[in-house]
Amino acid sequence: MAKDPAILAHQEWLGYVQPSGLVVSIPALIEARAYVNRNISPDHQRFLSALPSDRDGEPVPEIANFPEFARSVFGWAPEDLYGAPGAPALPETLEAPLPAYGETLRPTYALHDFQPADPTREWILLIEVLPTGTDLDIVAVMETMGVSLTRLQSGRFVALCPFHADTNPSFSVTPGKGLWQCFGCGVGGTAITFVKRRLGVSSHVEAVAAIRELGLWPEADDDIRKTT
Ligand SMILES: [Zn+2]
Repeated sequence: MAKDPAILAHQEWLGYVQPSGLVVSIPALIEARAYVNRNISPDHQRFLSALPSDRDGEPVPEIANFPEFARSVFGWAPEDLYGAPGAPALPETLEAPLPAYGETLRPTYALHDFQPADPTREWILLIEVLPTGTDLDIVAVMETMGVSLTRLQSGRFVALCPFHADTNPSFSVTPGKGLWQCFGCGVGGTAITFVKRRLGVSSHVEAVAAIRELGLWPEADDDIRKTT
């Protein structure tokens, strides 16, 4: 039996809609111009042109000058990036002393909200700039914290998940991306989220401090550099 083309079109878009309680037709969304603009090419070009190039003219995935990158790619006003040249110095209130570890955490830059809705929350983002080639070693962090990882030929690592009763390794780590995921219990994230979960803390600062204490946080004065 032939179906009405209008009904077919209707069923087609229904297949794209999640059952979340609100259904809006795609023609209505387009009419309201509420669709994702996939033309990200200009943004992409702006991003690439802000990166340094290698000898072959290929962009190098490295941000050599963060204030300049933030200005040209994100359009941030130079004076909003505290700690950057031409901007105010970082206030001491952004320092987090860690007496137990005998050190103080401080950002390299901080993005100030020029019109904070809540005066106690005037900082949007704290940024720590690390030297090139000192990626946080997610495998070293996990192994030091008791996860027994096995390297697969693909370069990925697997292990028994430390967060649920795992009998078949469902815990997967992709060091190149600095990410992990458990396909058994569904948790995942970065090295920082791993440490938070492992130690049962919610504070980013505490997780960073713990990684520093293990001697695994990339230090600005390290001369460990990739030679490539
Ligand atoms: Zn798990």
